[in-house]
Amino acid sequence: MKRRINWIIEMVSGSVQYESELDESFAVSGVSIDTRTLSPGNLYIPIIGEVFDGHSFVKQAVKAGAVATLWQADRPLPKISIPVIIVPNTLHALQQMAERYLTETCCRVVAITGSNGKTTTKDLVASVLSTSFEVHKTVGNFNNHIGLPLTILEMPETTEVVVLEMGMNHSGEILELSRLAKPDIAMVTNIGESHIGHLGSREKIAEAKLEICDGLSKNGALLIDGDEALLYQNPFRGHVTAIGWDEKCEEGPEMVEMKGLSGWSFQSRKTGHSYTLPLLGKHNVKNALFAIETGRLLDLSEESIAKGLRDVPTTSMRLEINQASNGMKIINDAYNASPTSVYAALDILEEIEPDLQKWALLAGVEELGEQEVTYHQKIGEYAVSKNLAGLITVGLKGLWIHEAAKLASPNQLQLKHFPSNEEAFSYLKQEGNKNILLLVKASRKAGLDRIVKQLVEGA
Ligand code: ATP
Ligand code: MG
Repeated sequence: MKRRINWIIEMVSGSVQYESELDESFAVSGVSIDTRTLSPGNLYIPIIGEVFDGHSFVKQAVKAGAVATLWQADRPLPKISIPVIIVPNTLHALQQMAERYLTETCCRVVAITGSNGKTTTKDLVASVLSTSFEVHKTVGNFNNHIGLPLTILEMPETTEVVVLEMGMNHSGEILELSRLAKPDIAMVTNIGESHIGHLGSREKIAEAKLEICDGLSKNGALLIDGDEALLYQNPFRGHVTAIGWDEKCEEGPEMVEMKGLSGWSFQSRKTGHSYTLPLLGKHNVKNALFAIETGRLLDLSEESIAKGLRDVPTTSMRLEINQASNGMKIINDAYNASPTSVYAALDILEEIEPDLQKWALLAGVEELGEQEVTYHQKIGEYAVSKNLAGLITVGLKGLWIHEAAKLASPNQLQLKHFPSNEEAFSYLKQEGNKNILLLVKASRKAGLDRIVKQLVEGA
């Protein structure tokens, strides 16, 4: 985003404090809320967070090259050399600017929410649409009331379609994001159990996700997980497509075939077209159909859609396939973990490459509260049920997994526990060979990604 300072002042209904006379032709390029990543020429937007108040970093912002700053009226005014634009609320100002910029660029908006699969579906949709449009998408997980407006303000003027991930913890949050972004196509990938603590029930979670319909254009389209009964009770009166495994869904996968470590091939129920998808995990076949349907809604040819799916960039450390220098194949899922995603990854390991021996390297899963020992024990028991040939664990929390696995499987499974990553690495380097497929999974804190790196480099 590049805009003259007067545009910004008008957009946020601000008043200016500046020691010199304001040059009206003077423009800002992009915005930043973090002085550590601020680029010269940016407008600084100090956000008031729970721990930090961005206003206390304004001097660093000037040093980093900010050319103007917003300022919340209830904060004491700073003595700085750049124009200060005073607003009632800096967060609202950020959102107002994003809303206006989005309207001015006239691009189409695709919005994605759901309990699981948002980021993956966003990447699939963006890959498909990139075959024919200039696409901008949410980076990583920037999917909340701050991340979403920042994503919008980062997009180039020439963007034709923006693909936005919308996340939530409480009801009312998706409503706010949808009103801001006014999507042309909105989707709800699934309803799970996450945030049930805040919302009370799955019905309430579904209601909160369906708030995405609030800003959805009347001529737009809503895509829902057709395997989830709760999503059929949506308030949208326009075009709704149900995508799911259930045969009553308008669109869904047929003739699904696993291609080992190369992913999947499948056909569309609706058109009979064939696709290949280079991602592991059966849930991604359904996620891919959301992207296929989006492509069709924007008039892409089936060839372009198929190409976009084939070329989807795989995210590093998320079920990524690596090759160790000793010949062992690795499924690197060391990006992060919850108990559910550990189970899902173990399921994938069991399903693919029947000719290889399956090993898993597991360590601690963080943020599990008082029940953490039980959760790790359950992971150990689950791993044993998956016909593994080897289970290697690391660290104190890994020991809980190891002990439970030992009780559940006294003989068949080769169990190894190591206190440190270095010892686990030495063992895997020595014992690994081309007949083994190793899954690596834990919370990021366990640092298993470094073991993978060493195994790949043969260090
Ligand atoms: P977050 O809330 O962390 O942003 P997200 O919704 O963006 O999560 P992804 O990062 O795409 O989700 O996927 C996280 C995990 O959810 C995957 O590793 C996979 O185990 C699971 N998952 C992905 N898609 C689906 C789906 N359609 N249904 C159920 N589970 C899924
Ligand atoms: Mg995400």
